Amino acid sequence: MTNNQLTESGRLRHFLTIEGLKRPLLTEIMDRAEQFSSISHQQVKKVPLLRGKTIVNLFFENSTRTRTTFELAAKRLSADVMNLNINTSATSKGESLLDTLHNLESMQSDMFVVRHNQSGAAEFIAQHVAPHVSVINAGDGCHAHPTQAMLDMFTIRRHKQHFPDLRVAIVGDILHSRVARSQIQALAILGVGEIRVIAPKTLLPTDCQSLGVHVYHDMEEGLQDVDVVIMLRLQHERMQGALLPSAREYYKSYGLTEEKLRLAKPDAIVMHPGPINRGVEIASTVADGPQSVILEQVTHGIAVRMAVMSMTLGSQQEQEGQA
Ligand code: ASP
Repeated sequence: MTNNQLTESGRLRHFLTIEGLKRPLLTEIMDRAEQFSSISHQQVKKVPLLRGKTIVNLFFENSTRTRTTFELAAKRLSADVMNLNINTSATSKGESLLDTLHNLESMQSDMFVVRHNQSGAAEFIAQHVAPHVSVINAGDGCHAHPTQAMLDMFTIRRHKQHFPDLRVAIVGDILHSRVARSQIQALAILGVGEIRVIAPKTLLPTDCQSLGVHVYHDMEEGLQDVDVVIMLRLQHERMQGALLPSAREYYKSYGLTEEKLRLAKPDAIVMHPGPINRGVEIASTVADGPQSVILEQVTHGIAVRMAVMSMTLGSQQEQEGQA
C-alpha cells in the first residue's frame, strides 16, 4: 500500500504513509516547511497558494493538536476549510462512508484530511476519490501518522542538523503507536545512525527487529548517550487485555524522569507527540524542562502541514496543466 500516493513523475499526490518514500522527498517537505515557518512570524500570516481550494477535515476519531494545526495550515495557505463533525454527520445516520465522501466531492472539495481508528482508512478513501482530490492521512489506527513523523523530523533537524550522526530512542507503547511506526520509517530513510526502541516485551511488535531498530527492555541501558528521546503515550484505547502491570510500575520502569534523562547526552532533546500524561510516561519537570521541545513540535506542525498540503495540491495542478 505504498506507492499509489505518488504521481507518475514521483510527486506527492496523496500523503498516506512514510513507507516507500525517498530521502529527497522528505528533505523537500522539511525545506518547504522551513520557508512556511517564517510566514507564521509575519504580521499577516497568510499566503495565497491554495486560494479557491476547499479542504475538508474528516475526523472520525478525536484530535486536538492535529485537527487544529491542519485547520490553521489550510487557512494560512488561504484555502477554505470545513471541519466535518462525524458524530453529527450522515455517517452516523447510516450513510456509508463512500456515500458521504461522494457527497463531499460533489461540493467541489479538493482535499480530505482523514483521521480514523481503522488502519488503512485513509488509503481506502484515497482509492475512491475523484482524480483531482488529494487525501492526507492524519492518523489511521495503529498504522501511520506521516505528518506527525515529518514534524518530528523537522524538529530534530532544527536542533541537530545531521541525521547520520544521531542516536534516537523511542520509548513506550511502540506496539500500538502509529507515530512510532512512521517515525522509525522516516528516521531510517533519513539515514539516522542508530534507532533504538525501549519498551516492555508486551508493547513491542513481533516484527520489531525487521524495522532495523535496536531493542532495549531496560530504559537505563537504552538511554545511554542518545541525542533524542521520543516518549510515547500508552494507547489504552487500542490495547486488548492486560499488557501492563500498574501505571505506577510502568512509570518506575519506563517513565522519563530527570534522573534517567541524565543518562542521555547532556544536550539531548526530549520529544512527545502529545497528549502527554504527566507522571505516567513523563515527569512534569522533564516535560516542562529545558531539554523539552514538546511545544515546539506543535508549532512546527503548522509549517509541515502547510508544506504537505501545498505539495499534494501542487502536484494535482501540475497534472491538470499537462492534461
Ligand atoms: N496524537 C498522536 C496520535 O494521534 C499520539 C497519541 O495520541 O498518543 O497518534
